[in-house]
Amino acid sequence: MQALDALTRDARALANGNVVLSAPETEVARQLQICNACRYCEGFCAMFPAMTRRLEFVKADIHYLANLCHNCGACLHACQYAPPHEFAVNVPQAMAQVRAQTYADYAWPPALGALYKRNGLTISLALAAGLSLFLLLALQINGTLLSNNLGGNFYNLFPHNLLVSLFAPCSCLQPWLSHWVCDDSGATSHQPPAVLH
Ligand code: SF4
Ligand code: SF4
Repeated sequence: MQALDALTRDARALANGNVVLSAPETEVARQLQICNACRYCEGFCAMFPAMTRRLEFVKADIHYLANLCHNCGACLHACQYAPPHEFAVNVPQAMAQVRAQTYADYAWPPALGALYKRNGLTISLALAAGLSLFLLLALQINGTLLSNNLGGNFYNLFPHNLLVSLFAPCSCLQPWLSHWVCDDSGATSHQPPAVLH
């Protein structure tokens, strides 16, 4: 019956030209409606004051608010409507599920989002490739991986300047890449979603 309700709701939204929310987004929207009436947690974090600027929550709002939550759990412990209450408000859990979805949705380039959905395999392969690269670099620089002359100094194996030249470009590029986000249609944009203005 719930599935039928959800299908009917999606069909109605599509017919009205609205973007259909996923199940986790629908759950966040439901909980935020309750929080917006309660507002007990207003001072806990930036998410709650931002939430009060909306009465209804569309996809972009939900994504934005989910990424303001840093999963501290304070609102769950304070909430009089947390399970076993029938309202079943668990903001950190609901936000975390949407946040995980946004990591894949807004990854740039988009192919990285697909990799994120198989993050166990991706991290394993990236770790293996990274370690292999480091070992190859060590071999290139020192001529051997079995030297006894390292003197207990990590930088004798991987020189400090080499590490800086490897990681500095990544840390400089990351904020720039993060600024590239997708709008609800999935198109790439230089601007963050137009929400909560
Ligand atoms: S988490 Fe609970 S106590 Fe906090 S604002 Fe929402 S409903 Fe109110
Ligand atoms: S769990 Fe998230 S929404 Fe709740 S108080 Fe902490 S940061 Fe805010």
